[in-house]
Amino acid sequence: MNRKPVTAALMSLFLLSLPLAMSYAQGKTSLPVKYEELTAPELVEAVELSDGICLIPLGILEKHGPHLPLGTDLLDVRERALRAAKMEYSVIFPEFYFGQIYEAKHQPGTIAYSPDLVWEVLEETCDELARNGFKKIVLVNGHGGNNSFLPYFCQAQLAEDKDYAVVLFSPGYDSTTAQKVEALRKTTTGGHAGETETSMILAHRPDLAHVERGADQSGENLERLEHLRHGYTAIWWYAQFPNHYAGDGSEANREIGELLLNGQATQLAELIRILKKDKTIMKLQREFFDKSENPLKTRQ
Ligand SMILES: [Zn+2]
Repeated sequence: MNRKPVTAALMSLFLLSLPLAMSYAQGKTSLPVKYEELTAPELVEAVELSDGICLIPLGILEKHGPHLPLGTDLLDVRERALRAAKMEYSVIFPEFYFGQIYEAKHQPGTIAYSPDLVWEVLEETCDELARNGFKKIVLVNGHGGNNSFLPYFCQAQLAEDKDYAVVLFSPGYDSTTAQKVEALRKTTTGGHAGETETSMILAHRPDLAHVERGADQSGENLERLEHLRHGYTAIWWYAQFPNHYAGDGSEANREIGELLLNGQATQLAELIRILKKDKTIMKLQREFFDKSENPLKTRQ
């Protein structure tokens, strides 16, 4: 390695400042990242250190083919959140299993709470986090069945005045990871409990990934509603995948799982970093709610 010589004084200054700088900049702190592991005095410090950012990883209890655990989505999304919070300090809310999952009610193990309860438990969780100082709440979704619910939940945050912001983590296309994953993949179909999702569980919980059972049921798309062009209806998923399995998990590969977990964790850490510096969201929300009190005074 080519390193320019530095003076002893400079070096000691550098070494002294390094642990502190690292502890705050890179999340290397003794404070736990898991909400339930913080003491009450530590929570006060955690709000400060995270700049009021709390992540809520959302999963669900549903069948994942014949070979993966019911809680797969939560296990995976919490792993991604943990990796991100280690890169950039933030607090992670405990296991959250409330979401939209009516399409899997015919399969063993599904816990499908009513729509009102799903909404209220998320809203009240956000309210309670905000009351405890977390004014920037990041929803980190691990479950495809929430893909319509969560953006609507975010839109509904403008329905009434709030002193906090809810942000939905929306990972972008990561071409480097995607190319590496493509090169390793053996199947072309996939999705729910298929090659990529099975690979993630294999990467961080190999004890729960029963890859050898992945071919016990079919994850083929039956295309039973293909004639319904230009129409969306709730039974579409069941029409395609009645086994609640899409793709083939028997071809899973640990390396794919690592790439996917780290790719998303990196993007999430980036979002946390951006939110720590951001003052615009709250400023605009305040301005908007104030104007909404009296829209006739809004300049035309
Ligand atoms: Zn899943």
